[in-house]
Amino acid sequence: MSNKVHLGHTARKRFGQNFLTDQGVISSIVGAIAPDNDHVMVEIGPGLGALTEPVADMIDNLTVVELDRDLVKRLQYHPVLKDKLTIHQGDALQFDFGQLQQPGKKMKVFGNLPYNISTPLMFHLFEFAEQIETMHFMLQKEVVLRLSASPGTKAYGRLTVMAQYYCQVVPVLEVPPTSFTPAPKVDSAVIRLLPFEVKPWPCKNVDVLRHLVTTAFNMRRKTLRNNLKTLLSDEDFAALQIDASLRPEQISVPQYVAMANMLCDKKD
Ligand code: SAM
Repeated sequence: MSNKVHLGHTARKRFGQNFLTDQGVISSIVGAIAPDNDHVMVEIGPGLGALTEPVADMIDNLTVVELDRDLVKRLQYHPVLKDKLTIHQGDALQFDFGQLQQPGKKMKVFGNLPYNISTPLMFHLFEFAEQIETMHFMLQKEVVLRLSASPGTKAYGRLTVMAQYYCQVVPVLEVPPTSFTPAPKVDSAVIRLLPFEVKPWPCKNVDVLRHLVTTAFNMRRKTLRNNLKTLLSDEDFAALQIDASLRPEQISVPQYVAMANMLCDKKD
């Protein structure tokens, strides 16, 4: 089914192309995005325009980032959209979203994302969190569960900790495979990410946090003490009042930040 034709376009599997065709789902997502002219509106992967058209309808300008050159051409010649769109052809993973910011305007970013790049794309977008008001993404349901997981659950991991460090995470809607053409093999869901204006647990150096969290989750079945033995001592854990015999998924976001801040202090 990977080469199914929709609106005269052959879907490309390597670009994760599953086009939204369910009007009910489309209007729910557009409602959640709440497009307006007070923000720089940015869509990742507009494809054949399922979300692009209704969003553009409500605002003056929409910026899109699309990798597929054929789809870019269609958008450039689209009778209604062409005057409203600012089109960037290229890879969203490499794209400098910071360049889109305008004085006094934060971004609202959204997209039905190609599932094969969704985790690295989340990490890339977190770098621009301070310039973003809201993000709404259609993702594999499993990734939505990971983003919104609580400590102590199987879905809680590196992506959870980093997402919840930067953002409030709110699952919005579950979407079955039948809402797309071609239908993906997995269930999907929409997530809302709201970057914190003021971070509840500020970290002195986010690179240190990222490295610590990656190291902590290297082996999920091992204890924190074991995974982090090159970084923190038993005395460090005692000073932080963190039980080092716990597994990495039992440790909260503020506890990870406290460990990272201790590492930063040690380096100074
Ligand atoms: N928004 C459309 C919809 O909902 O029907 C298309 C969604 S489709 C799942 C993903 C879109 O992202 C495709 O248009 C695909 O070409 C584009 N895409 C894939 N990889 C990309 C990347 N690295 N950067 C930007 N766009 C990408």
